[in-house]
Amino acid sequence: MTSFDVDLFVIGGGSGGVRAARIAAGYGAKVMLAEEYRVGGTCVIRGCVPKKLMVYASRFADEFHDAQGFGWSVGETRFDWATLIRNKDREIDRLEGIYRTNLEKAGVEIVDSRAVIADAHTVHVLKTGARIRARTILVAVGAHPTLEPVIPGGELGITSNEVFHLEQQPKRILVVGGGYIAVEFAGVFAGLGSEVTLLHRGDMLLRGFDDDVRIALGEAYAQRGINLALGRTLTSLEKTPGGIAATLSDGSILTVDQVLVATGRRPNTKGLGLENAGIAVDEVGAIPVDGYSQTLIPSIYAVGDVTNRANLTPIAIREGHAFADTVFGNKPTIVDHDLIPTAVFSTPEIGVIGCGEAAARAIYGEIDVYKTAFRPMKATLSGGKDRVFMKLIVDKATDKVVGVHIMGHDAGEMIQLAGIAVTMGATKADFDRTVAVHPTAAEELVTMRTPVVVKKPQAVG
Ligand SMILES: Cc1cc2nc3c(=O)[nH]c(=O)nc-3n(C[C@H](O)[C@H](O)[C@H](O)COP(=O)(O)OP(=O)(O)OC[C@H]3O[C@@H](n4cnc5c(N)ncnc54)[C@H](O)[C@@H]3O)c2cc1C
Repeated sequence: MTSFDVDLFVIGGGSGGVRAARIAAGYGAKVMLAEEYRVGGTCVIRGCVPKKLMVYASRFADEFHDAQGFGWSVGETRFDWATLIRNKDREIDRLEGIYRTNLEKAGVEIVDSRAVIADAHTVHVLKTGARIRARTILVAVGAHPTLEPVIPGGELGITSNEVFHLEQQPKRILVVGGGYIAVEFAGVFAGLGSEVTLLHRGDMLLRGFDDDVRIALGEAYAQRGINLALGRTLTSLEKTPGGIAATLSDGSILTVDQVLVATGRRPNTKGLGLENAGIAVDEVGAIPVDGYSQTLIPSIYAVGDVTNRANLTPIAIREGHAFADTVFGNKPTIVDHDLIPTAVFSTPEIGVIGCGEAAARAIYGEIDVYKTAFRPMKATLSGGKDRVFMKLIVDKATDKVVGVHIMGHDAGEMIQLAGIAVTMGATKADFDRTVAVHPTAAEELVTMRTPVVVKKPQAVG
């Protein structure tokens, strides 16, 4: 009979790996977890959490401005980057400690080392040289940001990993990318007073989001003074006495203090030894898995960003949890990746669940669209320029709300709650019979009564 050192070896102590390890240990499994950098992974150490703290920091300027319309005199204000970074780091250290303690309390043995796969049941712990035999291996190694595409001088750019540790706030920053990470950091630096250019090769930000939201965000960012350089790419970077000279595809040159490249992330599968177990990765380097997160090799599973399904923390956590339930809890569980509420922490914020209008038309055919755009009540006295935008998409055949799109203050908080209704299969009639909470911005979600008239293409002949 084959004997194993552990029931489960988890490679990667991020959102997915930590959850899987704790739940599996709770079912009585003997679990070892290897982490090569810091326990907590991308989300806690250099993703969602530090980013949101920076987003909070960036929004105080609006508050100071808005306060005056309500009678407050706000004296001179000053922002100190070093204080923010120091306090943020302290919080991240605290959270890492909690993650470690929780793993230890659950009985998980943590190994602070890189680990690679030696074969279908063996993990090589590089720091100690140990070869651990595991009944099951879970690959939860996440992904990393890339400086792509490769261009002359590209190494002068930084990624989201480095942006959290800059010694100084850049006075002028070029953010490259149109996805949520680029958009969020552009908002952060603009709020903190940097001169921001957001460069994106597409014509609109946030590909994959509803077009109305994409347009509304572009307008809001332009209104906030962010220089949108759309339909262009970065062709080279060069160090000059005045800073970093960035040449764009239209020949224009921009001189800035930092260039943040947020154009994409790649799964951390390079050098992981997957080939030793007979696992092939896909074209972006992700590990293919089935609904139970199992690879083609029965003893090896993979969860989170390394599988490139939906690269978000709550999804990695769910996948890790479902894996542990399936393999160690005798509760086979598949994670539904269909309806995922999500937020973009731009300023103004975005919250979304379900389909955008174009996707809904393709899936459902006949749909009703409800839209509203308005000035939030607070802006009446503050003079704030941001508007709120909301959009509901309803499948005509079933009356189900299949898309909710919100842009405005606290849209992330709103979409979490609207997400419950949509996940439950709420109809437009359910939204209509929900009593409004007045006066709020969110009440508009239940008071939109008239669908927008969609112009049908003229029949020919
Ligand atoms: C800037 C930024 C902002 C984000 N904001 C949000 C947000 O607001 N909301 C949201 O839901 N998601 C957000 N995300 C995405 C989120 O962070 C990821 O989806 C999530 O962390 C994925 O979890 P994971 O467990 O798959 O991987 P990770 O959390 O990346 O964990 C993988 C871990 O494995 C370790 N590792 C890698 N290789 C090895 C090895 N061979 N041996 C040992 N250890 C190894 C790594 O060091 C890492 O700690 C953000 C990401 C970034 C970069």
